Amino acid sequence: SREWHLLSRPVGWPKSEDFALVEAEIRQPAAGEVLVRNKFLSVDPYMRGRMSAAKSYVAPFELGKAMQGGAVGEVVASAADGIAVGDHVLHFGGWREYATFDAKQAVKVDPDAAPLSTYLGVLGMTGLTAYAGLLRTASFKEGDSVFVSGAAGAVGSQVGQIAKLKGASRVIGSAGSDDKVKLLVEEYGFDAAFNYKNGSVAEQLREAAPDGVDVYFDNVGGDHLEAAIGQLNRDGRIAVCGMISVYNNTEPAPGPKNLARLIQTRGRIQGFLVGDHYDLQSQFVQEVGPWVASGALKYRETVVEGIENNLEAFLGVLRGDNTGKMIVKL
Ligand code: NDP
Repeated sequence: SREWHLLSRPVGWPKSEDFALVEAEIRQPAAGEVLVRNKFLSVDPYMRGRMSAAKSYVAPFELGKAMQGGAVGEVVASAADGIAVGDHVLHFGGWREYATFDAKQAVKVDPDAAPLSTYLGVLGMTGLTAYAGLLRTASFKEGDSVFVSGAAGAVGSQVGQIAKLKGASRVIGSAGSDDKVKLLVEEYGFDAAFNYKNGSVAEQLREAAPDGVDVYFDNVGGDHLEAAIGQLNRDGRIAVCGMISVYNNTEPAPGPKNLARLIQTRGRIQGFLVGDHYDLQSQFVQEVGPWVASGALKYRETVVEGIENNLEAFLGVLRGDNTGKMIVKL
C-alpha cells in the first residue's frame, strides 16, 4: 500500500521535494478497528496549514509519517461491531491507498443514495461549510444580496446557489477564469460574476453590485475582502471562511485599509470553522440533499486519478485547476 509523507515543511509554494510517496505494510485490524481500501480522497486548501509547524486548530502533519485527510473507502476487514466487510465509510485516513483505524472514526455512507465522491464535497464537509457559513455565521436572510469569492470552487459554488434557492435578491461571484465566470452565470444561476484576474476587484465588484452587498462570504481574503468592505451595506455581514490568497505567503499580508467603514455600516466580520457546526449536519443533508438529487443545486467535481497524483491534485487546488470539489479517485 502506498501513502504520502511530508518530509520537510514547505516555505512558500510547496515543492515536490517536500513530499514522498512511500510503500507501507497493510496492517490487519485489531479489536475495534477496520481496514479500508480507499476509493476517493479529498484534497483541501486547509491542508497547506497542516504542512507548517505553526499552532492552529488542527495539529501539523508529522514529518516522515502518513499525511491525513478526508477519504471514502470500502471496508475489506473488520474487527468492529456494526461495520462489516463491504460497507463504505467516510473517514480521515486519506493520502493513502489502505487505512487501518478505530471504527469509531468511521461514518457509514450509502453508495446507492449518492455517488461516493459527493460525501467529500457537495454532501460532505465543503457543503456543510457553505451551509453553516452562509446561514449561521453570515445570518443570511431572504432578500439579502450576496457576494462570494472562490465562487466556482467547492464551497463557493454551493454558497451562491443556496443563497439563490433561499431567496437572495442578487448573487454575485468572482472566480479566476472566464470559463468559470460563464459557468456561474449560465449554469449556476448567479446574477453576475467576474474574473478577478481581469482587473481591479473593487471596480468589478462595484459594477456587479451597484446596490451594495448585505453578505460577503470570503474564501480568498486580500483585495477581495477590502473590496467587499467597500461595497458593504448597512448591517452587512462578512463570514470569513478562508483566505486562500495568503496561504503560501511567507510574510503576513496587509489587512484591509477601510475598516472604518464598519462603523458607518454597523458591519460585522466573523470567522468560522465548519468543525463547530456539525450539529447542522442532518438539517443540511435534509435540505440540500433533495436539491442535489433534483438538480436544483448543481455541482461539478474535478477528478484526478491515482495515488501518485494526490500531491499534484492538492497543488492544483491552490492554483485553481479545479472547478468544484477536487477529488482523487483510486
Ligand atoms: P476550492 O474548491 O474553492 O478551491 C480553491 C480555489 O481557490 C481554487 O479553485 C482557485 O480558483 C481559488 N484560488 C486560489 N488562489 C487564489 C487567489 N490568490 N485568489 C483568489 N482565488 C484563488 O476550495 P474549497 O471550496 O475547498 O475551499 C474554499 C475556501 O474555503 C478556502 O479558502 C478554504 O480554506 C476554506 N474552507 C474553510 C473551512 C472552514 O471551516 N472555515 C472549511 C472548508 C474550506 P480560481 O480559479 O477562482 O482562482
